[in-house]
Amino acid sequence: MLLRRDGHEVTVLERDPESVPRSGDRAWERWTRSGVTQFRQPHFLQSRGRIVLEEELPGVVSALAQAGGLRFDPLRLMPPSIVDREPRSGDMRFQTVTARRPVLEQVLGRAAHAEPGLEIRRGVCVRELMMTAYDGTPHVRGVRADSGEQFEADLVVDAMGRRSQLPRWLEEAGSRPIHEESEDSGFIYYTRYFRSRNGGIPEFRAPILTSAGTFSILTLPGDNDTWSVTLYISAGDTPLKRLRDPDRWTALVAACPAHAHWLDGEPITGVLAMGGVTDRYRRFSSDGRPMVTGVAAVGDACACTNPSNGRGMSLGLMHVQRLRDVIGAHLENPRELAEAWDEATEAELTPWYRENVAEDRARIAEMEALRHGLGPEPPRTRSALLRRALLAAVPRDADAFRAFLASRCCLTPLRETLANPEFVEHIFRVASDSPAPRPAGPNRVQVLDLLDDLRAAA
Ligand SMILES: Cc1cc2nc3c(=O)[nH]c(=O)nc-3n(C[C@H](O)[C@H](O)[C@H](O)COP(=O)(O)OP(=O)(O)OC[C@H]3O[C@@H](n4cnc5c(N)ncnc54)[C@H](O)[C@@H]3O)c2cc1C
Repeated sequence: MLLRRDGHEVTVLERDPESVPRSGDRAWERWTRSGVTQFRQPHFLQSRGRIVLEEELPGVVSALAQAGGLRFDPLRLMPPSIVDREPRSGDMRFQTVTARRPVLEQVLGRAAHAEPGLEIRRGVCVRELMMTAYDGTPHVRGVRADSGEQFEADLVVDAMGRRSQLPRWLEEAGSRPIHEESEDSGFIYYTRYFRSRNGGIPEFRAPILTSAGTFSILTLPGDNDTWSVTLYISAGDTPLKRLRDPDRWTALVAACPAHAHWLDGEPITGVLAMGGVTDRYRRFSSDGRPMVTGVAAVGDACACTNPSNGRGMSLGLMHVQRLRDVIGAHLENPRELAEAWDEATEAELTPWYRENVAEDRARIAEMEALRHGLGPEPPRTRSALLRRALLAAVPRDADAFRAFLASRCCLTPLRETLANPEFVEHIFRVASDSPAPRPAGPNRVQVLDLLDDLRAAA
């Protein structure tokens, strides 16, 4: 839509054949989107995503609100232990509007179909690249679909998500392997959705994401008085995989004092499980030179992470916005375009990827240590030490809380905030006075007992 508005001829090829349903309800209940494995997994639109939409496609934000999207201000999650509750200039940036993924995609999909001159071809599965050379570098000149149909283009945008096969296709077409880093983030998610019986969403008595020893709890508000509750664990934790059973899942949420009331609604799904979620980063340049031109990977196809911070859609939208700018400035010169796209991606997307991966590794290491009866490892790097101090300061200090929120909402990476020595000094001071946090749920022995008791009862 952004490129079309800049006057380009744009063809969107989407492998899933089903057209966009008429309503959010139908999208939630019936839309088959096998191209997006996580389609019915929990999704929350961070404020960065809302800001990009507001800047570029404001009609989508209002249509989402009309479809029952929830206007949500995460500042309301400020814990009562923070004394300074004065609003600050810029607080509006935290606000968002969010919905279940099928509802959000239905709204965006309908807007795209209404976009004058934008060609959307559903049911066209791209199978391979058509290549030539440009200035001595392999150059993508188009794509071929399963049907054999060919599409020539000045630029091919890979928006095929986390399962994009672009590197394999490039190699099959004779290109050198591109740089790829990939690791299983090591988490398994167990989610259940609810709808309120009397309107509204439950009160937040804890942050959206809470670590509770060997598991974490995620409570995401959604559209039309719905919400999701997710428990996630380390994939190596076999005893906790019994959380797939709705009774055990319910028993564990019920045992978490600040979360039990999120069960107070009508369940609208069973327990949805998802594992094998990969952290993956791709780079199409080496030593400052593009390895291929004529193609740009965007969103998850370029970098994707474990989703517990709920950043993927927002970062994807931000990345799309940048791509539009780079195309506007460089479409005539494929090499310049590839260089500018690599630069923009490294400056704006990669820092978020690195931050997320570091957080994932630390959390998995913590879960694994606790599972084996060990205490959490002391922070080994300066950034881990700073992060620990910040987390200790968040429940006591308005600045620390906002800094943390700005990272969660994809507004400012922590690395940037923690580069300020005065702020760092401040959080260490606050952290040293902070009491140890209260446990968010049962300890390991209690969790295992609880899951075993249910087996005995069954
Ligand atoms: C469990 C889970 C929970 C998540 N929760 C959140 C959250 O709370 N908040 C958030 O912001 N993000 C979340 N994410 C991340 C978010 O889902 C992704 O970041 C986002 O969908 C990426 O968008 P995308 O357009 O890059 O790719 P996708 O949404 O994956 O879209 C890729 C599209 O390409 C199509 N396609 C694929 N191959 C082909 C082909 N060969 N030919 C034609 N079409 C093709 C697919 O059908 C699909 O429509 C979550 C992810 C997971 C796994």
